[in-house]
Amino acid sequence: MMAFVALVILGVAEAGAQNVRFEEWFTGGTLRVNCLREGSAQGDTVWVERWYDRQAAWHGSRTQLIDPFDNGDYRVVMRDAETGRELFSRGYSNLFREYKDTPEGRNESKRFEETLLVPMPKGKVLIAFQKRDKDMKLYDQTVVVYEGVESGKWKVESGELATKFDVAFVMQGFDGVGEEEYQKVCERMRGVLFGKEPFKSHREDFNLYFVKGDAGVEYNTFGADRYAMTFKVWQLHDVLGTTPCDHIIIVLNNEKYGGGAIYNFYSVTSLHKMAENVLPHELGHGIGGLADEYVDEDLSYADLHRTQYEPLEPNITNLVDFPSKWQSLLPAGTLVPTPDAEVPRTENGPLGAYEGAGYSSKDVYRPAMHCMMRDYAPFCPVCRQRLEEVIKMYTR
Ligand SMILES: [Zn+2]
Repeated sequence: MMAFVALVILGVAEAGAQNVRFEEWFTGGTLRVNCLREGSAQGDTVWVERWYDRQAAWHGSRTQLIDPFDNGDYRVVMRDAETGRELFSRGYSNLFREYKDTPEGRNESKRFEETLLVPMPKGKVLIAFQKRDKDMKLYDQTVVVYEGVESGKWKVESGELATKFDVAFVMQGFDGVGEEEYQKVCERMRGVLFGKEPFKSHREDFNLYFVKGDAGVEYNTFGADRYAMTFKVWQLHDVLGTTPCDHIIIVLNNEKYGGGAIYNFYSVTSLHKMAENVLPHELGHGIGGLADEYVDEDLSYADLHRTQYEPLEPNITNLVDFPSKWQSLLPAGTLVPTPDAEVPRTENGPLGAYEGAGYSSKDVYRPAMHCMMRDYAPFCPVCRQRLEEVIKMYTR
């Protein structure tokens, strides 16, 4: 077990600049960091339990090392130990963020696993675990000093990894399933992933991998019957082993409706006949960091939409700072808020700012009458644009 050292912040690194030369700072391998986050709405702490060589080439981009999106409740940031210069960063979210807003999570402390995959540094670096303060700004929650790990031979070589969006399907519950039937399911999942835009047009940008194993996913997460997630994130990554994974999709061998996703963490679908819609919707969350555009007053608990700040997600707004969202895409003369229009479910309708999104019927607005993130219509232009940007980031 690795002890951790909390340090004083070394100064703010340049944000957004993609001028880190991969070869100068990274070996080309992958560092796996197992963390634990423990707490409740009253507060939480995060620490490193163990880090080690994943024995696989770095699967992510070698040019987009600094996260260009201000999304996700948490962020991992790697800095040069000497100068504090930012070398790598990624935003993400986790189940704890939802747990702390449940009745149990308000006071009762609970422990959550995280696994972060980062490019293996050549030398001594600082790894910062950031979270958002009440003003939505990221700050260093914990900083650890990394001085190297025992490194072996890579089992996965780099090849196309840097320029492909690598999606790893973890197939849960398929151990006793015959090969022919298993291949049929894999084929169906391939079709589901590429069935809708913008994924459809980017088929060539993806490499898919299929791994059988128990990812620990169970229905009824936080008491919601159809919400299927895993608390065994380390086990999920043990199943993955060295499989390249810019994103992880867990497929349950179960016909029951359900799924879920956490931004830059993983997405889940079942074999329900609606999977053709459920999975693209969940990938909107898991890959795009998109918000739900539907209304569900049962879910609009806690502080999902702090009123004096824009929500992080690009596809909803509370009109506090609409220019930072999709205002510039609206045709001249569009009324804001935009009155509802009669639009068939198969279309988005005119772009606007329609009231009712992010679970709230009031004060939160969405870009279109219909969208994959609302009612399984095609992704609206705002959602689609963000997904395109993310795909581009992983393939440059
Ligand atoms: Zn949308």
